[in-house]
Amino acid sequence: MIDLLKKNGPFFKANLHTHTTVSDGRMTPEQRRDWYRDHGYSILAITDHSKYRQYPELSTDDFLMIAAFEATKMICADPKFPKLKYHLCHMNFWAKDPATSVFEPEPEVYDIGTINQYVARMKKNGWLCSLNHPGWSFMTNEEVNQIRGVDAFEVYNHISEYLDNNGSDPSYYSQYLKSGNFAYAIAVDDAHTGYNAEGKLDAYSDMGGGWIMISMPRLGYPEFVEAFENGRFYATTGPEIKECYIDEERDTLIVECSPVFVISLKGVHTVRAARKVGGSDELTHAEFPLAEIREKEPYIRLELMTMAGKKAYGQPYYFDK
Ligand SMILES: [Zn+2]
Ligand SMILES: [Zn+2]
Repeated sequence: MIDLLKKNGPFFKANLHTHTTVSDGRMTPEQRRDWYRDHGYSILAITDHSKYRQYPELSTDDFLMIAAFEATKMICADPKFPKLKYHLCHMNFWAKDPATSVFEPEPEVYDIGTINQYVARMKKNGWLCSLNHPGWSFMTNEEVNQIRGVDAFEVYNHISEYLDNNGSDPSYYSQYLKSGNFAYAIAVDDAHTGYNAEGKLDAYSDMGGGWIMISMPRLGYPEFVEAFENGRFYATTGPEIKECYIDEERDTLIVECSPVFVISLKGVHTVRAARKVGGSDELTHAEFPLAEIREKEPYIRLELMTMAGKKAYGQPYYFDK
């Protein structure tokens, strides 16, 4: 059996992208930690704009803070669109070891080559990295596909989906993989909202919309880094992936999940979808024979969707690796 979830212990719920009063968020770091801890999360990265902070004092036995920041000064310039002053290029950087990861402020650049060099230096300096909300940043596919070296890719960014209806654009990710790049899929909140004058949460809240479920033997910083680097997680806006493995004897992929409407298996040229014709969230199991698919596909990945449009994304599995 080949476990595509690469489970190595229980799953922990994590939001890896959020803002606080340290930049333009409307909750203090402590309030943000409290909200996530009280809503079933075990891991939070505070990623304030261009401001790296660590917060070890907010970590507890049952809650882990990841030291991080969001690089937000970087800009792509596409000569095809001279009227556009800029396309943003936002990236999150998470310290692999807060004691030794060396912080370097992001450059204010106008070309992707310089962005890629910065990513390469940061990775050498002990950081994990993601490409954030390409839709919200108005990046073109051409720009996105030239980005190199990121560990993860936001397939779902909750605030931009809520505010501007452009945070759920998984075709960017699909095209990124098809162009020969690799990154793990993540879903995040990118939360900015907070409490109003009466101490109540804003009526519209951007917390709790996108997260990852990450498997590790116990909650700890090095355990998180190991699990993240090895892709022991999936991204979701609701559905739960319980099992996703290849039964090698039958050469068949087996999926077990919370009730959904569609379970689909995607490659470069292939979609195999299992769905219930009745039109409700009844599907919790699917099997996909792989013999034909592995003949023509370099990789496969799992997507689930409920009737309400909530989705989960498994990580790409490459047949030849
Ligand atoms: Zn951003
Ligand atoms: Zn952000």
